[in-house]
Amino acid sequence: MTASDTGLDKHDWQLLSVLTLNPDATPGEVRMRADMLPPSTWGSNLRGMLTNAAWRKLSRETSEAAGRRCVICGSESFGPNHTPQNPDCHEMWVFEVVDGVLVQRLERLVALCKACHNVQHAGRAEKLGLTGDVVDTLCRVNRWVPAEAEDDIDRAWDRYELMSGLEFDLDLRALVGRIQVGDGVDLYFQADEREKLGNSWLKGPNGPIAPTLFDLPTEGEERR
Ligand SMILES: [Zn+2]
Repeated sequence: MTASDTGLDKHDWQLLSVLTLNPDATPGEVRMRADMLPPSTWGSNLRGMLTNAAWRKLSRETSEAAGRRCVICGSESFGPNHTPQNPDCHEMWVFEVVDGVLVQRLERLVALCKACHNVQHAGRAEKLGLTGDVVDTLCRVNRWVPAEAEDDIDRAWDRYELMSGLEFDLDLRALVGRIQVGDGVDLYFQADEREKLGNSWLKGPNGPIAPTLFDLPTEGEERR
């Protein structure tokens, strides 16, 4: 999809290009904002495209590079019975226009605790009744008051609505040499190629599952 087909203005593009994670934030900078992905990208992710073994390897490497701690808040992760667990592996995406074309580009993989990961899927969190937790996490990480966190969630919904009618090429070149996806040598795929690459919603243990917001699976649940 080309930028000229969208009818978006300068303000829209500023909203669309907001970065929601800043692991390198200095004191006083915003460390994390709420996020939610547009429907055209749901399930079209690395976990859907890679073998389970390849995804687990990436997830493990991401966790180890972060010292098995969340890169945003520094928390360790625990599973049932307080069992130590690798943090979730989250794809940090950038939405941008390159040569007039809309692109979803993988910036890097990051290790996140469950609480911070929920902030990055704030739409799903709301459906699960976890918006209070999202507000609490934003306040804790950014030293915000609740009203600031709530304003940021509203901004994320505005961005979500803005992006809902848009389709994006997929740029995974940050992982060249580390993964193989389909026949793609350079790990860049046009929007209409994405469907055939695989979808994490179709990898449920009982076969395909309906792609609704309520059915989003949890991500990166590998134990240490
Ligand atoms: Zn965290």
